[in-house]
Amino acid sequence: VAPELYRNTWAEVDLAAIGSNVRHIKRQLPSAVKLMAVVKADGYGHGALETARVAVESGADSLAVAYLSEALTLRKQGVKLPILILIPIKPQEVPMAIEYDLMLTVTSAAWFKEMRRVCGHSFYPFMLNVHVKMDTGLGRIGIRDKQQWEAMVPWLEAADIEVEGMFTHFATAGDKDTGYLHTQFLRFREMMEWANNSPVHVKTFHCANSAAALRFPEMSLDMVRIGAAMYGFGPESIKNAARLESALSLHSSLIEVKHLKKGEYVGYDLAYRTDREEWIGTVPVGYADGWSQSLRHTELIVDGQRAPIIGKIGMDQMMIRLPREYPAGTKVTLIGRNGRESVTCMELAANLGGAAQEISTSISCRVTRVYS
Ligand code: PLP
Repeated sequence: VAPELYRNTWAEVDLAAIGSNVRHIKRQLPSAVKLMAVVKADGYGHGALETARVAVESGADSLAVAYLSEALTLRKQGVKLPILILIPIKPQEVPMAIEYDLMLTVTSAAWFKEMRRVCGHSFYPFMLNVHVKMDTGLGRIGIRDKQQWEAMVPWLEAADIEVEGMFTHFATAGDKDTGYLHTQFLRFREMMEWANNSPVHVKTFHCANSAAALRFPEMSLDMVRIGAAMYGFGPESIKNAARLESALSLHSSLIEVKHLKKGEYVGYDLAYRTDREEWIGTVPVGYADGWSQSLRHTELIVDGQRAPIIGKIGMDQMMIRLPREYPAGTKVTLIGRNGRESVTCMELAANLGGAAQEISTSISCRVTRVYS
């Protein structure tokens, strides 16, 4: 048994759910559209390798990660599919990207200039595969105006550069108000014309993430980059319409149960005081597992009933108020279904004012992922 399994907390990843999500998403896209599965941040906390494998079996054509380190990990684990690194890497790391057959995101002529300075003037007989990132309004990375594009063109025309793609990313794809999304899409259409009217041949245009692809099929263009939906996350309406299933659950068990009188304290800084006789359960999950203090006012599930977290969450343990006495060893569910009740990452994320993936990616590597 692996040492990390010697604890009674585990995350379960339902790979069949991820596979089914990918197939459902594919069915909703225009037929020629390619699907890039986004497996950055260890597959949104679900395991990058396992997610990549099931995504590919279910019809994904390529993968995306954020960093070179993530791409190298997948390659070293034997993943052969095309991989796009979504954030520009350092120019001196380019030879490594070529060696491992990785596609790079490029955002400026200055990067190319520096890359040629450190890497030399040709990779021949090898090619460097790039996707040009356009900033249509997210204000994060990418080319914003035509001058920047024109400065890039001579670098993109080099014989050893393959322009695999041009892409942008939306700021508000899941919002009810679709005004800004459409403004960004129209801006991208304009930018596509810059490319089409230049000597640069762009093979693939892509802009849609999960929400954009599922809400507006016309935004799919040549390819979509799917993260959230593949893991069963998304605004509830999109999730239901696309018949997506959550893939992640997190379970533990009570390690101790105590009966406290009225007026007794629980946890650090005496942050909770019983206001009657109460059954208190200790759960061996803490902020070092990803259950940060900001989840202090949420509930866990014991025996199909919700049990509120009380007091402050510690590094390794937290306490909950039980509806009645339960024996130590009773299963506790932090994410997923337990009897009649369930808690989703989306519900938990609402407490942080964030997205479901903020919960799933925070579950630390101290929690073993078990695949089913
Ligand atoms: N494309 C880029 C550039 C991203 O940064 C992300 C995720 O943040 C995605 C695609 C996937 O987005 P989603 O998880 O909403 O599908």
